[in-house]
Amino acid sequence: HQQQKVEANILVLGAENVGKSALTVRFLTRRFIGEYVGTESIYTHNVNVDGRETLFSIWDSVCPQNPNLNNCVTEEQLRWADGFILVYSICDRDSFNVVRQQLQRIHQMKKRHCTVPVIIVGNKRDLQHRREIPSEEGRLLAISSDCDFFETSAAETYHGSLVVFHQLLESLRESRNSN
Ligand code: GDP
Ligand code: MG
Repeated sequence: HQQQKVEANILVLGAENVGKSALTVRFLTRRFIGEYVGTESIYTHNVNVDGRETLFSIWDSVCPQNPNLNNCVTEEQLRWADGFILVYSICDRDSFNVVRQQLQRIHQMKKRHCTVPVIIVGNKRDLQHRREIPSEEGRLLAISSDCDFFETSAAETYHGSLVVFHQLLESLRESRNSN
């Protein structure tokens, strides 16, 4: 019999310049183009995942210029999203702190409701020589906040982005089934 279409609203968050757009565009097009327009976009993407038709809506967010507002996740975004991808750059300590703050904000907002799937992504893994965040630190943050964790390089691999979006979808299905 006909299976119902899966819909997933995914919000991509993180500081400026960490590769949010690069990861998103990699997933959508399989390509890395180097420079990305700095405008906020919501992309829709229809794909078959494990035999089920899936409609991704991906909100590639833009961090406010004012660094004090970096941790700002709007009410609208929180209401809209079914799941979150929080991106930092492994060679930018500040961007890791932004992820910490955004994580707190999501948990405050959503704790009244069911748990929401969150994936933390350490991007720019190709820049090992400039690494400021050990993998272990990213992993610990994820474990302590019940998230998944991946390191990847949008510049180097398509597979890394694919795994991130598919894993989030899988967590979303699990949380929907258990509610
Ligand atoms: P956003 O502001 O978070 O959307 O970041 P962008 O996707 O626009 O990327 C910011 C800059 O980092 C661009 O110059 C990208 O080419 C570069 N970039 C993105 N991902 C990677 C990566 O995995 N490795 C490297 N070396 N550069 C990357
Ligand atoms: Mg961007």
